[in-house]
Amino acid sequence: MSACLAGIECGYDSTANGTYPSALKLLQYDTVSVFRFCPEDYSFGTPREMCDIHGGTGLDVLEGRARVLTDSGIDWTEGMIRASEKMLEIAQRERIEVAVLMDISAACGSQVIYSGSRFSENKVYQIGAGVCAAQLIRNGIKVISQRDYASLEVLYSKIDPSHPVDATKIDHHETEWYKSYFGK
Ligand code: SF4
Repeated sequence: MSACLAGIECGYDSTANGTYPSALKLLQYDTVSVFRFCPEDYSFGTPREMCDIHGGTGLDVLEGRARVLTDSGIDWTEGMIRASEKMLEIAQRERIEVAVLMDISAACGSQVIYSGSRFSENKVYQIGAGVCAAQLIRNGIKVISQRDYASLEVLYSKIDPSHPVDATKIDHHETEWYKSYFGK
């Protein structure tokens, strides 16, 4: 799990980036082992600058076609790739079954990320994963975000068969915002 989703104050501004009950619920099951990791803290410490991906998605960064830049223009590409490799190492060592990661982040985003700086006048979203989520995905690890409520319902029910699946819940790519923004 993205460490911030577990309540650890590892965000760029030393906050936990908000509170997400959908993810925190996973910490309450005593049959579940949750490994918390903040890739940006691993490489850059906390607090730190905000960063975004320029020229593509996280997968493009891993394949050398895009870069990770901070707001002040410092190139964090190498550190972010190193962090993604550490995250993969932990995931494989601990044999994790699913990664629940904070969406929108240049590191942890799995459904939607920014295209270029989020602080630009015309901030633009793109479909895609951040660098660390992409590293897990391309190595066969299932990744969902804290906003994939339908997938999380299935996860809760697999952990606790008495959990009644709420069929009204939807994943992030099924929301009106997503469909209207991306024309899907
Ligand atoms: S890098 Fe990931 S775990 Fe760390 S603060 Fe950002 S979203 Fe959270």
